Amino acid sequence: STPITFDYIAQPMDVSFGAGSLGQLREHIEKLGLTRVIVLSTPEQADLAERVAGILGDIAGGIFTKARMHVPIEIVDEAAAVVTDMQADGCVAVGGGSTIGLGKALSLRYRIPTVAIPTTYAGSEMTPVWGLTENNVKTTGRDRAVLPVKVVYDPELTLTLPLGMSVTSGMNAIAHAVEALWAPDRSPMIELMAEEGVRAIAAGLPRLRETADDLVGRSELLYGAWLCGSCLGATTMSLHHKLCHILGGTFNLPHSETHTIVLPYVLEYNLASSPSAQAALGRALGADPVARLVELRAAWDVPSSLEQLGVKHEDLETVVAAALASPYANPRPVTEAGLRDLLERAWSGALG
Ligand code: NAD
Repeated sequence: STPITFDYIAQPMDVSFGAGSLGQLREHIEKLGLTRVIVLSTPEQADLAERVAGILGDIAGGIFTKARMHVPIEIVDEAAAVVTDMQADGCVAVGGGSTIGLGKALSLRYRIPTVAIPTTYAGSEMTPVWGLTENNVKTTGRDRAVLPVKVVYDPELTLTLPLGMSVTSGMNAIAHAVEALWAPDRSPMIELMAEEGVRAIAAGLPRLRETADDLVGRSELLYGAWLCGSCLGATTMSLHHKLCHILGGTFNLPHSETHTIVLPYVLEYNLASSPSAQAALGRALGADPVARLVELRAAWDVPSSLEQLGVKHEDLETVVAAALASPYANPRPVTEAGLRDLLERAWSGALG
């Protein structure tokens, strides 16, 4: 073992968690001093946006329900017109990473705060990272101004999250924690949060097998998502997030499914090179973390290979080249041969 050494800067965090906590949203917004907010959602969650606006009453100055994956600039421009028209002094984003991403883009442009009400386990609400897509190119950056000023976690809102997406979104959360555990800028606090986050997600998922609307399981999952999202916001991500970013961006793959497929392979590649991550995941997931993850996802009909997502075998070389093109932190050196083998296996779904 080595002597302890770390830097740790806490992110500002104002969180309310609990079934039914959406009911106190108006009080939270009033406490922040906001008087006229725009409520954001995807088209699929427009009913929920209406419900949120109903709770806010006259504080809700408008509703915009066209949030989309990858935060296209055209959508941001359209929402921006509503923001200026109604002179919004804040955004309330209710939904997954796509909707919260739109709130962040508006926070970035107008320096107005976002309040997030997450309904998936993606964790964007806990990070100062924004993304924007223009002409098919996604740009991302970090800015304190986009970190939501208040987050309301109400597990009741996740009861409608389809089972498949609950599993892949949970895996997406675990991936944040796993990479935080071997991040170059990890610290003891983050390692505790990461381990507990993984434990909570792994405890919550099997409960959905009994009943999809099990509130105890749903609470565990959202609680885990909070912890894992916090880890994502506080540390530098490595090979796993890099590969998922390249795969998602190059082939327009679904976000959480891609994470779900790739994670076991990156774990296989990296785990032995990070004894502290291995120990933490051993406690959270059992002696064989890779097998446990595969078991957790196997109970549902979620894609388990890149081939199933429509990636062509001949396209793997593009990914290898892109992943080697720019250097990034990783506990084990990323070699061309190692990467090719990892991607081959993720493509075919081979394990063990
Ligand atoms: P998503 O926000 O794209 O949601 C997918 C679909 O599920 C949408 O139609 C949405 O309306 C629906 N949905 C969400 N919650 C639901 C619920 N409870 N019940 C029924 N339907 C529901 O998916 P996501 O995985 O949450 O987010 C992915 C996006 O977020 C990606 O673009 C990713 O890059 C981004 N992201 C960003 C960060 C960050 O820190 N900036 C972190 C994580 C993810």
